[in-house]
Amino acid sequence: MSEYKIALIRGDGIGPEIVNEAVKVMETAGDKFGHQFSFVDVLMGGCATDAVGVSYPAGTAETCKSCDAVLLGAVGGPKWGSDKPAEQRPETALLAIRKDLGLFTNLRPAAMRKGMADASPLKKETAEQGFDIMMVRELTGGIYFGKRNRYETEDRGIEASDLMTYSELEIERIGRKAFELARLRRNKVTSVDKANVLACSRLWREVMHRLAEEYSDVEYEDMLVDNCAMQIVRNPGQFDVVVTENMFGDILSDEASQVTGSIGLLPSASLGASAPGLYEPIHGSAPDIAGQNKANPIATILSVAMMFRYSFGLSAEAQAIEDAVDKVLADGWHTADIAGSDEQLVGTDKMGELICKAI
Ligand code: NAD
Repeated sequence: MSEYKIALIRGDGIGPEIVNEAVKVMETAGDKFGHQFSFVDVLMGGCATDAVGVSYPAGTAETCKSCDAVLLGAVGGPKWGSDKPAEQRPETALLAIRKDLGLFTNLRPAAMRKGMADASPLKKETAEQGFDIMMVRELTGGIYFGKRNRYETEDRGIEASDLMTYSELEIERIGRKAFELARLRRNKVTSVDKANVLACSRLWREVMHRLAEEYSDVEYEDMLVDNCAMQIVRNPGQFDVVVTENMFGDILSDEASQVTGSIGLLPSASLGASAPGLYEPIHGSAPDIAGQNKANPIATILSVAMMFRYSFGLSAEAQAIEDAVDKVLADGWHTADIAGSDEQLVGTDKMGELICKAI
């Protein structure tokens, strides 16, 4: 029997409710496939500010590093807004944990789940064809981490600048992740850049081409970011793995997630060079529905499937969770965020139970 230790950051708002359902799913999959999971609760976010005065208490990263993977519900809420000092704001904790765990790869799958085509804003025939994109975003480099400047000029008023920098090392390590992932999927990598304008993108492309030769079994293409933004709405089915730098990835992964129809269905993974990876739904803490048993737990449950696949190498177990989610949705069980008029409406806990049963 394999044993895995998982750090649980339940967080704020709907975080505790959705993490509860994810824990049930892990235990059910563990019983079925013969694995044991133990859980360590980690205090982080607004709840940590309330309990100990800071959102990222000392020792948080060390506790997470002692585990095999981290599952995060969501952190944040109006109670700990921008008027509070940085150390009390939940967003500070999020950036800190990603940095402390060295999580340079962000994976955001955007898949049209069976039976969800009606919820998509895409043309009906495009949505019905289905798609399954894995967005791979570089997470710790580029313009978001470059030098910023703001100064007065003599004749143009105030001027500001943000420096975008990428090294071969940073590009190569994210590129490798993309090619390795493609081998586990449909064997195609689309690398997105703006090489017709940016020096960083030209270096990005050079490094990606070197990797494409090395991974010659994987189909490879370059795509300019403006074209990619169009293709995601025109023909998302053409993509398998899409790899790109930090800012382009931020924008394109939000676009790709929206065309699937619901924010409550989408998981994510952030990975570094070594364990533990951090898994979380892409949505926030949804304070407007917290504590009402209305939150959709599926994004968190699918984050567990990603954890099984990418941190533990448990592909069959991951597939069993994803198939169970598809079955429950196809049977017409929906939480309020994805419900139409004639479906069976269920709460957070019932949705979790139905998925466990389907596993
Ligand atoms: P949000 O994602 O929390 O909510 C946006 C809308 O989507 C709301 O109407 C909410 O009810 C709905 N929604 C979100 N998740 C849902 C789910 N699982 N089921 C059903 N409906 C769902 O975004 P927001 O309102 O902009 O942010 C709220 C708080 O979350 C803020 O403090 C923000 O900073 C924080 N946040 C945290 C994370 C994170 O922890 N990684 C990410 C994004 C936002």
